[in-house]
Amino acid sequence: MAGLAPVPTLKGFILTEKLGSGTYATVYKGFRKVAHREVVAVKCILKKGLSKSSTENLLTEIEILKKVKHDHIVNLIDFQWDGHYIYLIMEYCSGGDLSKFLATKRALPERVVRRFLQQLASALQFLHSNSISHMDLKPHNLLLSNSYDPVLKVADFGFAQYVEREVNSESLRGSPLYMAPEIILKDTYDAKVDLWSVGVIMFECLFGKAPFASKSYGELADKIKSKEPIKIPSAIRISDICHDLMFRLLQRDPKQRINFEDFFNHKFVDLEHMPSPQCIDRAKLIVMEATQKDVEGDYKSAASLYCQALEYFLPAVHYEKNRAKKEALRSKVREYMKRAEELKQSFKPSAARPQTGNPKTGSNSFELDGLANGCPALKAALQTADQAEKLDEEENYQEAFSKYEDALGQLLLILQNESKGKQKELLQSEVMRFMTRAEEIKNYLEMKRLPLRQDSLNQSVMVSNDSDESTQCTIIFMVLQLNGL
Ligand code: ADP
Ligand code: MG
Repeated sequence: MAGLAPVPTLKGFILTEKLGSGTYATVYKGFRKVAHREVVAVKCILKKGLSKSSTENLLTEIEILKKVKHDHIVNLIDFQWDGHYIYLIMEYCSGGDLSKFLATKRALPERVVRRFLQQLASALQFLHSNSISHMDLKPHNLLLSNSYDPVLKVADFGFAQYVEREVNSESLRGSPLYMAPEIILKDTYDAKVDLWSVGVIMFECLFGKAPFASKSYGELADKIKSKEPIKIPSAIRISDICHDLMFRLLQRDPKQRINFEDFFNHKFVDLEHMPSPQCIDRAKLIVMEATQKDVEGDYKSAASLYCQALEYFLPAVHYEKNRAKKEALRSKVREYMKRAEELKQSFKPSAARPQTGNPKTGSNSFELDGLANGCPALKAALQTADQAEKLDEEENYQEAFSKYEDALGQLLLILQNESKGKQKELLQSEVMRFMTRAEEIKNYLEMKRLPLRQDSLNQSVMVSNDSDESTQCTIIFMVLQLNGL
């Protein structure tokens, strides 16, 4: 058939190698004849081959592509037609498509998957806000801008739809490997089918094959019809947040599947901290506030703000392409990390606990112990407090804190019913001591929990250039330190 088709010729362009072909088109690399010989990709659609429905698809594709301009959606530059063909002139993605990329690499590391996923999610967020569903998301339709620093771009809007409504599945389309089960099994489906496909793509990137990969059509049909939850392989270790997202995307029942908002906000996607031109401005603004608080001596707020700023600084470092600027930014980031770490450490509770029964240290527990002999509730409370102090000594602060809380709850109850006297005074001063200590520990735990999370750490690794590896390691090391790991 293809041999008989007329050779596509496009006015003003030289068409060269074939880049790929899909359901109803062949895509060629092309050069603009004039001036700077701009490289483009030209999708050539044979008019004769167009049925009524594929003509509609094509018109929708053109309409949508003309409307959507986004960093992670392939750009439609122009379109033309002649007697035989309709031509979509698009930006050229020299990295090919994700299916070819996967074929050479098999499985991708989680950090790379995460970066691609963020880019895909950002395109989907844009489409979603314009009520557009792609309906045919799969590795063949995800292009890579180039091979050395690949940026993902969604392509092929041939099946895309405006989705205020539910669609019925009379005209089955797309590949069953990536198609949501409800398209095949039910009458109607909606925009959430795209989220299923995202789950499948994620799965394939991480494990080298799609969850429904089968040797025969029968096996595939069984897998699609099965009610079993999708099994996520354990052979390759992935982080909990990555697992959680994939599990929620790959829910067969669209009602159980994660929704768009939760997907965009999911910790693994974290669009807010995706490398973008805005990151550096946000980071600078927050770090200004941090240094201000630092100067004022409000160290708790300062540490928290430094960490928030770093969550933007790390993707900003990644986004910066100019080597010198990147390096300058990195050393600034290191300074802020160092300061944040210093501040965090300054909140570490002092080590010693007062020696029991030593009046100089301020502990009244020895005397109280004596008084508690006649009061089982007080005895139990003091035992809990003692356990808290032991955990505290072992620097097991999280558990120490909850034990202190327990003990304080019990002691405060007893204190309420205590009439004036020596025992009440002793009890009050012990309660004060535990409260102060618990407060110190709480502050420290808050410091430890500051928002520089494992996932932002991963972003720092997402620097694509291999020669940047050693600096990345330094950054990672510092983040680890900052996280107290
Ligand atoms: P179809 O609608 O026929 O599936 P696509 O738009 O998906 O057509 O293109 C088919 C293939 O051509 C893609 O899978 C990809 O390999 C290649 N291709 C498409 N557009 C481009 C582009 N802009 N740059 C590079 N390769 C492309
Ligand atoms: Mg395609």
